[in-house]
Amino acid sequence: LVLVGCSDSASSSKKSLENEKIKLVDNEEKLYVGFILDTLRDERWYGDKEAFENEIINLGGNVKTLAANGHTEVQIKQAELLIAEGVDVLVVVPSDGEAAAPIVELAHEAGIKIISYDRLIRNAAVDYYISFDNTKVGELQAKEILKHAPKGNYVYVGGAESDNNAVLLRNGTMNILQPHVDSEDINIIFDQYTDNWDPAIAEQNMKEVLSANSGQVDAIIAANDGTAGGAIRALEEAQLAGEIPVSGQDAEKEALDRVKAGTQTMTVEKPMVVIATHAAEMAMKLANGEDIQTDITVENGQEDIPTILLEPRILTKDDIK
Ligand code: BGC
Repeated sequence: LVLVGCSDSASSSKKSLENEKIKLVDNEEKLYVGFILDTLRDERWYGDKEAFENEIINLGGNVKTLAANGHTEVQIKQAELLIAEGVDVLVVVPSDGEAAAPIVELAHEAGIKIISYDRLIRNAAVDYYISFDNTKVGELQAKEILKHAPKGNYVYVGGAESDNNAVLLRNGTMNILQPHVDSEDINIIFDQYTDNWDPAIAEQNMKEVLSANSGQVDAIIAANDGTAGGAIRALEEAQLAGEIPVSGQDAEKEALDRVKAGTQTMTVEKPMVVIATHAAEMAMKLANGEDIQTDITVENGQEDIPTILLEPRILTKDDIK
């Protein structure tokens, strides 16, 4: 029996070796796309990964996705690895917009084009940038929260300052809030970025704001659903959840549940399938040596990057009923 077992597994491993050989030859002819994510912590990135990989495979390419768990050093190593493996194009969600610049240089030295995905790599000759309009997301958040709290004490729970999106979101929000600050209708009592977009840090900050202001908070603009979740946990502890409007973005499942339950006022939908499919198409074109037409450019501190900006959409209780 043992012998039969052995010979079985030997023949099956021989077969799989043969399959692998066939696959390897096959793979060499296919375009190979590398996708480097900052993190898979926030739910959305799983959606990006899945949709991106599906579309690359759909278009006849091979794809490998790596996530750096928030570490720039790891991300640079991952880029080196994929370049050494012979990727034809790199698609990168930078952990840190500034610190990711060497990835662009490494790619270019190897003759590989680079797409900045969702987040902009700053101060580097990025070939293309695709994202949602993050300034608009910040504006949508502030406009909706103002409807619920036209006056009072505002708290701004930002994203990670090292993420260019967090800066754009804050700009958008402040564009809308500034006139209300000037007229003294609203008072911003807290305005901070949140390292790593970490919900636990957002929760801790919110606890401190509530206790420093004896619970006198009238509105919370949280940059995404993760930080909103943290802020809402602090509100729950203070038995204030549902009393104070809170924004978010990403349309994460838990956030949609909170919007339904009334503890979160809104979220913003940025369909992963839309950005991932677009980006995958761009990547395959670039890998194939084709050019891409874009309508706009975005300045990244060094140069104007050809850009595609997609439209975000607000979701409130009424929309998700
Ligand atoms: C993305 C958000 C996301 C955040 C944290 C941002 O760059 O645009 O959708 O919630 O990163 O991962």
